[in-house]
Amino acid sequence: SRDASISIVGSGLIGRSWATVFSSAGYTVRLYDVVQQQVDSAIQDIRHQLNELEKNGMLRGTSKPEEQMALISGCSDLAKAIEGSIHIQECVPENLELKRKIFQELDGLMNDDVILSSSTSCLLPSKLFSGLKHVKQCIVSHPVNPTYYVPLVELVPHPETQPSVVEKTYALMKRVGQVPVKLIREIDGFALNRIQYAIIGEAWRLVTEGIISPEDVDLVMTAGLGMRYAFMGPFETIHLNAEGTKNYCERYAVGMKRVLSSFGPPPEFRDDEIQNIHQALSRRIPADPEHLNARRHDRDVYLAALAKLKKKM
Ligand code: NAD
Repeated sequence: SRDASISIVGSGLIGRSWATVFSSAGYTVRLYDVVQQQVDSAIQDIRHQLNELEKNGMLRGTSKPEEQMALISGCSDLAKAIEGSIHIQECVPENLELKRKIFQELDGLMNDDVILSSSTSCLLPSKLFSGLKHVKQCIVSHPVNPTYYVPLVELVPHPETQPSVVEKTYALMKRVGQVPVKLIREIDGFALNRIQYAIIGEAWRLVTEGIISPEDVDLVMTAGLGMRYAFMGPFETIHLNAEGTKNYCERYAVGMKRVLSSFGPPPEFRDDEIQNIHQALSRRIPADPEHLNARRHDRDVYLAALAKLKKKM
């Protein structure tokens, strides 16, 4: 073991993912939840996940699932759950009031060294952490689901977050095999969702204006753009698509500006549009738990295979 412990507050989907990631890297992990039953089922679920990862040859680190499990324990007392930890990863539901309540509690219990890191998908650090005594030690570390195969973590500081807290969190994320990126300052949607929403917004427009079907939009991504996006971002793409970025812009900046200025305001997401797109998707994947779960399972299998491929690159 690394002789350092991490605390997870909230043992749902994301709390379990973090526990798996940290224990794989040899950290002691303490899981806390208001619902004791959640901690018990989290521990069972993590054991199952680790065994599955081993079966697929995807287990990180060098220790066996049982050795990793030995590092994970449940705790029903918040003060004990964070005692002596180097890092607290908060994973309670996405609700500002609830998160602020738990941060108030943690603020009274934590020492001056531990890092308090939130998994929030879209709440801003200035809303989450302002007014806390330990605000300098607070940061957002936004993971992606499924975390083990999609390793990105967006680090978003509060204006008062100490630079050393950003650096320590960055180093920790790298050490456990995630891929951290730093936002210099907070912005609504962080980076991942802003880019994702730009894509959804334009896809929505193309479909609702009758240009292309929803099925074909998905193919534009899966058979086109997405093929390289798994290992090459938009900037490297343009750099390679001409004789470097400068040359790309000489050739294509005017065209990009023309097309971008035809985008117009964001879609309204009208009820009739939602209905049509929902129906089109439901013909492919009926929106019931059975079909959705089957497709989620496929997604995870493909992501695992892709993660394996990327390891070799
Ligand atoms: P979840 O509902 O699966 O789990 C939340 C857990 O928090 C539950 O076990 C619940 O019992 C527990 N909880 C509730 N109140 C608590 C309290 N006061 N103290 C301790 N535990 C408490 O939710 P999730 O999907 O794991 O999401 C957790 C966070 O991670 C959210 O902020 C979410 O936005 C973020 N996130 C989720 C995803 C995703 O895909 N699900 C991806 C990235 C980030």
